[in-house]
Amino acid sequence: MLTKINETKAKTILTKTNLPGCDYVVNPYNGCQFACMYCYAAQIARWKHPNEEWGSFLDVKINSPELLKIDLEKLEKKFKSKNFGIIWFSSVTDPYTGLEIKYQLTRKCLQVLVDFGYQGQVALQTKSSLITRDIDLLKKLHDVSVGFTVTTLDDKVSRFLEVEAPPVSDRIKAIKMLSDNNIHTYAFIGPLLPHFVNSKAEINRLLDTLQEAGITEVWFEHINLSSKIKARLFEYLKNESPDLIPEFEKADNQEYRDQLNKVIFDCLEGRNLKLGLDRVIYHHDLLPEKLKEKKYFKVKK
Ligand code: SF4
Repeated sequence: MLTKINETKAKTILTKTNLPGCDYVVNPYNGCQFACMYCYAAQIARWKHPNEEWGSFLDVKINSPELLKIDLEKLEKKFKSKNFGIIWFSSVTDPYTGLEIKYQLTRKCLQVLVDFGYQGQVALQTKSSLITRDIDLLKKLHDVSVGFTVTTLDDKVSRFLEVEAPPVSDRIKAIKMLSDNNIHTYAFIGPLLPHFVNSKAEINRLLDTLQEAGITEVWFEHINLSSKIKARLFEYLKNESPDLIPEFEKADNQEYRDQLNKVIFDCLEGRNLKLGLDRVIYHHDLLPEKLKEKKYFKVKK
């Protein structure tokens, strides 16, 4: 699907953010080869490519590692510290999008963070087992957390909506490998697909599988069906599986979200799992002051 690769030079790479759960973001690429049909970044990261299909272009910021070194040194001077909070890879791409095999920009940025001796947390979120290539560097970071987006346990479903992303079975194996290397892993279960509301058993099976693989933290997010995302997703569904459109439409209201929240909290009860942001995220109603609070779900005695 990828037809256009643009090697570019960015002006800055470590960007301050208001996104919940992190302080700075690093995006070594603009665009994402995984081409997920529900991708929010498809709407915000394509301003240079208004007429191109999401997944068909990739801007490769070839100077990312050099810039990161410069940005880290500037912030060290400003804060007189090597800890400026959580640095997250990535907000508008997957840091292990396919061409990371060739360009290794995420790997080189991790090397920069290791060499710099960054003392804050480095968090990475991906759908790709390619991250296991970098276990050597992840282990050298002071504080690291690796998240895998998992929306289903079914490879066919993941391939249907996450068109070019590695299958979910690969991600589960990668979680296990990272956990076996004592690297903190979490699962990002989002967007929550509509069928979950009627299937407590399926959420439990998903959580069981993820915990067996080694995760200790889980994040949930309701589906974001803002107009642009909906237009792209529904156009795809119209051609591929129109019977699913009413199911997604049903998922776009508060009553549905309340019902699903209840199912999820029931499933979390009794599990030793930390819930990211202490809530099921819904993009419309994030409240920054509440986002830093975290609670833990303890095992019932
Ligand atoms: S992996 Fe993430 S950034 Fe890439 S297309 Fe999918 S949702 Fe978008």
